[in-house]
Amino acid sequence: MKFKLVEGLEVRPSGIEGKGCFAVKVFTRRHKIAEYAGEIITDAEAVVRSRRRRHLRICAIDSHWSLDGSIGGNATAFINHSCEPNAFMRITHNHILFIARCDIQAESEITVDYGYTYHSDSKRCHCKAATCRGTINRPQD
Ligand SMILES: [Zn+2]
Repeated sequence: MKFKLVEGLEVRPSGIEGKGCFAVKVFTRRHKIAEYAGEIITDAEAVVRSRRRRHLRICAIDSHWSLDGSIGGNATAFINHSCEPNAFMRITHNHILFIARCDIQAESEITVDYGYTYHSDSKRCHCKAATCRGTINRPQD
């Protein structure tokens, strides 16, 4: 897959799953790491694509629109889920931003809590955090 380069980030093999997104510089707490990029698609198209692929790089903007980071995306499309993440997503004016939750040192893998995704509810989480909930999707109340 071809993807755009983002300053301070690199795609490398991950201990969590497949490839991950790694910091190659320090990101300080509450500062922007990067913006998600990809093809804008409808919710219905996101459902269709998520059934066909093993690696999902689809990120919802709202209940109508999503970005598919496998087309025109950047290193943030490789950010893995963790139940104890060092970053979070903030959606503002149709832009999906990744923000540091804590100071992130160079060479650390960037992770976020995906919350609820197009993955099946049975997809296991391998984040190794002490508080790991066991699945990628957060159970719905
Ligand atoms: Zn976990």
